[in-house]
Amino acid sequence: MFDADVIVIGSGIGGLVTATQLAAKGVKVLVLEKYLIPGGSAGYFEREGYRFDVGASMIFGFGKQGTTNLLTRALDAVKVQLETIPDDVQIHYHLPDRLDIKVDRSYEKFIQALGDRFPHERQGIRKFYDECWKVFNCLNAIELLSLEEFRYLMRVFFQNPMACLGLVKYLPQNVGDVAKRYISDPELLKFIDMECYCWSVVPADKTPMINAGMVFSDRHYGGINYPKGGVGKIAETLVDGLEKAGSEIRYGVRVTQVIPKSKAKNGAIVVKLSNGETLTAQRVVSNATRWDTFEYLLKDETMPSSEQRWQQRYQKSPSFLSLHLGVKSEAIPSDSACHHILLEDWADMQKSEGTIFVSIPTLLDPSLAPAEHHIVHTFTPSWISDWEGLSPSEYEHRKEEAASKLIARLERIFPTLSQNLDYQEVGTPRTHRRFLGRIDGTYGPIPQRKLMGLLGMPFNRTSIPDLYCVGDSTFPGQGLNAVAFSGFACAHLVASTLNL
Ligand SMILES: Cc1cc2nc3c(=O)[nH]c(=O)nc-3n(C[C@H](O)[C@H](O)[C@H](O)COP(=O)(O)OP(=O)(O)OC[C@H]3O[C@@H](n4cnc5c(N)ncnc54)[C@H](O)[C@@H]3O)c2cc1C
Repeated sequence: MFDADVIVIGSGIGGLVTATQLAAKGVKVLVLEKYLIPGGSAGYFEREGYRFDVGASMIFGFGKQGTTNLLTRALDAVKVQLETIPDDVQIHYHLPDRLDIKVDRSYEKFIQALGDRFPHERQGIRKFYDECWKVFNCLNAIELLSLEEFRYLMRVFFQNPMACLGLVKYLPQNVGDVAKRYISDPELLKFIDMECYCWSVVPADKTPMINAGMVFSDRHYGGINYPKGGVGKIAETLVDGLEKAGSEIRYGVRVTQVIPKSKAKNGAIVVKLSNGETLTAQRVVSNATRWDTFEYLLKDETMPSSEQRWQQRYQKSPSFLSLHLGVKSEAIPSDSACHHILLEDWADMQKSEGTIFVSIPTLLDPSLAPAEHHIVHTFTPSWISDWEGLSPSEYEHRKEEAASKLIARLERIFPTLSQNLDYQEVGTPRTHRRFLGRIDGTYGPIPQRKLMGLLGMPFNRTSIPDLYCVGDSTFPGQGLNAVAFSGFACAHLVASTLNL
């Protein structure tokens, strides 16, 4: 029986980065994953020769320099590597009024293209995106660890006071306020809204400047890089590193309860499993969402007031309706970008099934599909409430209907799509809830109202002694590189409490 110092509940990228960082320091870690493979929202599934990413596929954090390349660093820490393929265009936007913009890997090319579309705003465009670089340069100058650890804060401040003061300045700011300082064209401001919405699922007014600084700059610095063999390889490779470092992972193991040490017989925090087993450790880290952690795993406890306050500030974002297609290669011109965003009417940007996200990873890695075929993963926001209370046949019918609508809309970009279909699978918010293990299938927390930037986002420590949270419902939020940041911070904090 493996006697762990730290138990991590869940093997999403946040959980695995925490686990590998701790294992690299010599801590014995046990990861408990309820599904059959690691990765959570960065997992995959295989059907008829296709290997589909379940969620994420636009991957930041694989750069070679600076400090913000957290996925590269996480793999290096446990002495494993992953080949990646550079993506020259982050997103090809297909927006209302023929607003057609490609975000090139080269910053200058992108600024030029946007300025050509809005010549009267050339100066404002540069000033706005240059300000995002200021945030990024501060982040990229310091080691990204736990802001809850006082000795680290002091060290990093004395090593780089200007970068730290820069971050303190931007921490309470949102993108919308900064953009409006430099830009007044309403259509360009809507474009900035979409630049935020496509990863934060809220418009610029509610999107923290710190996150935007990362996304809008790192795409031109470390760039977007796709892992060869599919996104699932990231988690699989982290698990290889975890095991090499002497720690363990168990699959098909669902944690049903966390018992705080004040209630446990031996005075140590306890984790109960669905098979009746109980395990103890010095520290427990939950990679389930904060809602799942406090409403389900700690259901016998009174909700701590800090969590109640957090739930008043943040709500669950919608989930997604996902359409996984296998198509003949004739449908996709070979010079197409890998990632696309499609919207026909600005009024629909935030509506259910409004904005469409498209990802065609086989343009970068053809090995994910049979020869002469592509994967087209399309997803659009959708609420779980729209999919509940349906009979099995109504559910199937609704899925078919939604898939046909999405394909018809996608034909604006790929006109022969429906003639070239080879395989089709639809995932709904119910699918996300079940297979990704996330309450209501949510993509993560979004502000209930305009907040002060990232100031309201909780860190890793919780008010339950020896219990920590990691992942996209902790600082700094959603996205693989962001949850990797959360993992670095969590491991650093936990290690400091173990005097490592
Ligand atoms: C459709 C979609 C597209 C996305 N696109 C991108 C993208 O292009 N780029 C990007 O960077 N990000 C993207 N994201 C976001 C990104 O995937 C997530 O923010 C990130 O993967 C979340 O990681 P996490 O560490 O919070 O954990 P999760 O991925 O949520 O994993 C948590 C794990 O914990 C397990 N678990 C939960 N409860 C228990 C329990 N009780 N017992 C045992 N195990 C449990 C779950 O099974 C799961 O494996 C996308 C997400 C989705 C859904």
